[in-house]
Amino acid sequence: MLDADFFRRWMTATAASVEREAERLTALDSPIGDADHGTNLQRGFRAVKDALEKEPPATPGAVLTQAGRLLISTVGGASGPLYGTLLRRTGKALGDAAEVDERQLAEALRAGVDAVMQLGGAAPGDKTMIDALVPAVDALGDSFAAGRDAAEEGAVATTPLQARKGRASYLGERSIGHQDPGATSSALLIAGLVQASA
Ligand code: ADP
Ligand code: MG
Ligand code: MG
Repeated sequence: MLDADFFRRWMTATAASVEREAERLTALDSPIGDADHGTNLQRGFRAVKDALEKEPPATPGAVLTQAGRLLISTVGGASGPLYGTLLRRTGKALGDAAEVDERQLAEALRAGVDAVMQLGGAAPGDKTMIDALVPAVDALGDSFAAGRDAAEEGAVATTPLQARKGRASYLGERSIGHQDPGATSSALLIAGLVQASA
C-alpha cells in the first residue's frame, strides 16, 4: 500500500530530478519554445518541496492537491495550469484515504491526465506532455517501472511529430525534429514513482 509518505517521496524525487535536468528542459524548450520550461518547473517544484518540508499533508490525496495548487500558483506559462491540474485532479480522485494501492493510483492518474486533455485540448500525437502521460497511465497497471519506460519512450517519440498545441505549434513544420520539453519533464514525474518505491 502507498501512504502519504510515499507520495511525499514521489514529489521530492521529482523535485530533485527537475533540479538535475532543469538546464536540459530549458534547452529543449529553446528551439521550439521560449527557453523557460526548466526554470518554470524548478520554481514550482521548489515550492512543492519547501511546503512538504514544513508540514507534509496527512493523506496521499492531500499531498497531490497541495502540490497541484502550488504548481498552478508558481510555475506560470502553459505548463503550470496543466501540471497543476494533473496533480490536483489525481489527488481529488484519491479522496481522503490514508493508503491507496498501485491500481488506485493508476486510475486516479488517468483521471488527472483526462483533465489535462480537457483543459489543454491536446490529444496523443500533438507533441505535448500528453504523449508521455497517456502511454504511462496505460502501462502503470503492470508496474511503476513499466509506466516509467512507457513515459520515456513516449517523450522520445515526440521528436518526429509536428506540434499541434502550445507554443511549438506556432512553428508548424519547423517543430519537427525536436523532443518536446513537457513530455520530457512528464517522464521525470513518472520516473519519480519508481524512485519513491525504492
Ligand atoms: P510555455 O510554453 O508557456 O513557455 P512551458 O515552457 O513551461 O510553458 O511548457 C511547455 C510545454 O507545455 C510543452 O512542451 C508541452 O508539453 C506543454 N503544453 C503546451 N501546451 C499544451 C496543451 N495545450 N496541452 C498539453 N500540454 C501542453
Ligand atoms: Mg516555455
Ligand atoms: Mg513561457
